[in-house]
Amino acid sequence: MLAEWLDQGLEGRPPSRAEGGVAGGRFRLVAPGVLELVPDAPSAEARACVLSAGIHGNETAPMELLGEVLARLEAGLLCLGAPLLVILGNPEAIRRGERYVATNLNRLFCRDLEEAGDEPDRARALMAEVDAFYARHPGRERLHYDLHTAIRDSRFPRFVVEPFAATPTPPEQWRWLAAAGIQAVLHQHRHSWTFSHYARHYHGAAAFTLELGRARPFGHNDLTPLAPMARLLEALVEGRAPAEGDPGAMTFFRAEHELLRHSEAFRLCFPDATPNFSEFPPGTRLAEDAVAGETRVGATPLSVVFPNAEVEIGARAALLVVPSPPPA
Ligand SMILES: [Zn+2]
Repeated sequence: MLAEWLDQGLEGRPPSRAEGGVAGGRFRLVAPGVLELVPDAPSAEARACVLSAGIHGNETAPMELLGEVLARLEAGLLCLGAPLLVILGNPEAIRRGERYVATNLNRLFCRDLEEAGDEPDRARALMAEVDAFYARHPGRERLHYDLHTAIRDSRFPRFVVEPFAATPTPPEQWRWLAAAGIQAVLHQHRHSWTFSHYARHYHGAAAFTLELGRARPFGHNDLTPLAPMARLLEALVEGRAPAEGDPGAMTFFRAEHELLRHSEAFRLCFPDATPNFSEFPPGTRLAEDAVAGETRVGATPLSVVFPNAEVEIGARAALLVVPSPPPA
């Protein structure tokens, strides 16, 4: 039923069962594309975990990864030990195999959101579900992993974006992510209204956007490199301590600038296929914009992450980042 739930969600069919039992607890469909699992006896160290995928509809590997974890739970190979909210972010975009339908969902997770439309409505619904979930499970540390894959290749195929926040991320997160095969960490330098930022900003959750390789269609993903990440998710599901690795094995970056698209006549001055985290030396021209003029690298080399010249006007066309020391 649980693994099926993903497929049915994708096909737009109502699920065959809206609630039921799994080893160690119960599951319940609380909204379209939103599944809650509640353990009979949560472990003492269990986090209240939100695991989301498909915020961008064409990023399929994370959905397959969550599907495998749910299938193992359903088969009795895992025992539920932590409250869990599993979210399929943008079901209509997933059905279409597209990043989004009308606008990028992953910039709308703000309580002041006033935009109208399918994606804004979905953002409001998901914010309400996350609020209600954390309210139903008070007194636990909160966690949100929002799972993605990137549009392009990357010098670090598996990396996380740490949303901007006033308080530091709990240090065990770096050890868990290192053991889960994450290769790089990018600290955001200011508020960016992504789903993981929502959980961090409004709920104090340990929260990340996880980029788990390159976006490919269903059936074309190789989940082998994600096996250590699957082990981390399984530990969270069971409410036990995840494996720990050396954070020093990861490369840390912080965002320095956001390159925004200000006009129709905008272009990036490097090839489309440039991998994430490619570094450009001082003086390199990075972009030309009819309104903002040209953007060049200043005195310090900059690496480019998430370049996308095709974004909506006013949106981020690339993040420019510099290396930073690992957290103390
Ligand atoms: Zn994405």
